[in-house]
Amino acid sequence: MSHSDRPETAPAAEGLSTQLVHHPYRPPQGWSAMPVPVAKASTVLFRDTADLHHYKPRDGKSYRYGLHGTPTSYTLCARVATLEGAEHCLLVPSGLAAITLVSLALLRPGDEVLLPDNVYGQNRHLTLNMLPRFGITHRFYDPLDLPAFEAMLGEKTRLVWIEAAGSITLEFPDMAGLVRACKARGIVSALDNTWGSGVAFRPFDLLPRAEPGLGVDISMQALTKYASGGADVLMGSVCTRDAALHERLNDMHEHLGYGLGQNDVELVLRNLPTLALRYAHQDATTRRLAQWMAAQPEVAKVFHPALPGSPGHEHWLQQSSAGAACLFSVAFQPRYTARQVDAFVDALQRFGIGYSWAGPMSLAVPYDLSRSRSLGLPFEGQTLVRFAIGLEDADDLQADLARALSVLRGA
Ligand SMILES: *Cc1c(COP(=O)(O)O)cnc(C)c1O
Repeated sequence: MSHSDRPETAPAAEGLSTQLVHHPYRPPQGWSAMPVPVAKASTVLFRDTADLHHYKPRDGKSYRYGLHGTPTSYTLCARVATLEGAEHCLLVPSGLAAITLVSLALLRPGDEVLLPDNVYGQNRHLTLNMLPRFGITHRFYDPLDLPAFEAMLGEKTRLVWIEAAGSITLEFPDMAGLVRACKARGIVSALDNTWGSGVAFRPFDLLPRAEPGLGVDISMQALTKYASGGADVLMGSVCTRDAALHERLNDMHEHLGYGLGQNDVELVLRNLPTLALRYAHQDATTRRLAQWMAAQPEVAKVFHPALPGSPGHEHWLQQSSAGAACLFSVAFQPRYTARQVDAFVDALQRFGIGYSWAGPMSLAVPYDLSRSRSLGLPFEGQTLVRFAIGLEDADDLQADLARALSVLRGA
């Protein structure tokens, strides 16, 4: 890191700019405090040419160029690996970048990828619009129909995406069943673990415990959500336990040139210690509001994996000992038009209207899912409102929902 053992030339006779660039003062090596220093660099200085020639790529300790890792980013890598229960971690500039990394690293012309029908919208978009250019085909599976899923796994299937719970409609799949089926055929399973965030379940050690080693091959997360927690950072991670798989991902990571701002890395490091607390707190508020909404006459159905009757509830019970994310979705009685549902969302005063989730502010977004599902919808009508619950007081959020429902009632 430091080139302090290289002799310093006396700067006095040189110009001001040279003196400032080649200044002999270096921060002390022995500095120790809990926060991780923000190490920013494109250029990393080598001690001498021998040091440059003997650089060891990818050992997690050596530095060559800012793009390939700094002390700050290596620290976050190690901690996210711990969060996920993984051995290896790669950081990327967004959750979507993590998805793209996995699909591009593992798929070749002629291969097929399977996605759950409730997959994150941008993963669907990538698979429908970009992967075909590389001769990669896809099919969507029903995340709640394990026998149908098993029947779809074929010679060409190389990668299976899993989401637990899935996006917007929040169906929770039989993760152990999906993973077992992939393992039996040597197919790589990749979990989008943004919902669980490393808290709700252990992606590399799924239940039942009687089957040690039952876990996904890859777990990626949008660190944008819980790990950041501040609604101010975009970042993603891709974790594995398998060294060979990690190498394949690392190769593609280098090709894509994914870099990170080290101030953003610092923000995530700063918020990791409160991740589990925030997760539990937001979980409690979310369940209370989801249950309350389910009891309102305007509401046809509430989707939240911890609610009995929500699709896949029994699988969630089996897998998740530690909770559920801050999301629920509401299907209103089909007599309400999309325009009336929009008016309900506009009437909310304590919910922002906007994408993403797991930040401090609660959010509500109406979704028309008619064009983003291939296998049909688990409710009547087309419009659903997805709520993301923040850190506000539950009473205030419930009062706001009640107020907005009275607008809907009067419509
Ligand atoms: C938000 C999200 C992503 C994408 O993360 P970005 O950082 O916004 O690109 C991926 N998967 C899921 C499930 C998400 O909720």
